[in-house]
Amino acid sequence: MTIKRTQRKDEMLEKQALPEEAKEVEETLRPLCLADYVGQSDLKQHLLIYLQAAKKRNEPLGHTILHGPPGLGKTTLAYILAKEMNAQIRVTSGPAIEKPGDLASLLTNLQAGDILFIDEIHRLRPAIEEVLYSAMEDYALDLVIGKGPSARSMRIDLQPFTLIGATTKAGAVSMPLRDRFIHNFKLAFYTAPELQKIVSRTSRILSVNIEPSAADLLARASRSTPRIANRLVRSVRDFAQVNNEDLVTMPRVKATLTSLGIDDRGLDTTDRLILLAIIEKFSGGPVGLGALAATLSDEQETLEDVYEPYLLQCGYLQRTPKGRVATKMAYELLGMEQPSVQGMF
Ligand code: ADP
Repeated sequence: MTIKRTQRKDEMLEKQALPEEAKEVEETLRPLCLADYVGQSDLKQHLLIYLQAAKKRNEPLGHTILHGPPGLGKTTLAYILAKEMNAQIRVTSGPAIEKPGDLASLLTNLQAGDILFIDEIHRLRPAIEEVLYSAMEDYALDLVIGKGPSARSMRIDLQPFTLIGATTKAGAVSMPLRDRFIHNFKLAFYTAPELQKIVSRTSRILSVNIEPSAADLLARASRSTPRIANRLVRSVRDFAQVNNEDLVTMPRVKATLTSLGIDDRGLDTTDRLILLAIIEKFSGGPVGLGALAATLSDEQETLEDVYEPYLLQCGYLQRTPKGRVATKMAYELLGMEQPSVQGMF
């Protein structure tokens, strides 16, 4: 069986990969308050309590780490928390902070109650991370000035602030850093009804007139991820517009998904290639991530952060101590027979 590859990887990666125009649209689609933030009900309930308590004590919200695959709403939540706390938010990312001095300058410029949002916090360098420890614990910066025998350390007091860290890889955040966060939330994939709400909301904001059944299909094909739901709404809008259609219909959605290589479960060609490689090249697994990435000429990080979580969630893939294994469902998806070998998963 051969599967042709399409270019969806970049689209699915982090916001940095989005062109300026797409970023702007994404900003207009961000819900601005917790009430408009669809789903994640446990997380919202807890946050409401922490927000109320912090406000009552007139203190900043405790440092918070958000983890989950790309596009599930970590950045959106950070903005909402800032708004709910009436605080300003400064946004940066792990790879953007190159020197301890960059972080020191960000921290010393924070006003009381401000939120510092660090996306991809697992990519902070260790030397920079260390600067964060005292900042998070004591609202202070311990700096070493000068070099050699004349070096001296200096402590600078900071305004009380909240650090919000976001990561797609909770396991890659060092223990000392993880321990300094008070609140730790894992974002869950969205259910079909939640995605339907997001598709309706996005269609309304972008003035896209879409048939309810067509909207449902888009929701199902959204890989349980709001960013993808938004992107699909924009794609069908473009296809409909070019074809002079005022109403987005089911055939239009189906045609758009087909041309994007996406099936009605939201799986794309790369997903199918991953499963096919495990089955054909590694006899169904177990296979290590490195070997799989090399076979697919893809980056290990992309496979692990972008593709694998959804394949695991849907049950096409299993993670075992020996590596990744294609499940019976994966064989069925690809129309292949699973060999009956003893000890098979
Ligand atoms: P992440 O930071 O986890 O990669 P974002 O917060 O940038 O994800 O979310 C991507 C887009 O998805 C946002 O622009 C927003 O429009 C939409 N989105 C995310 N979470 C929700 C939600 N809970 N309800 C509605 N829309 C959401």
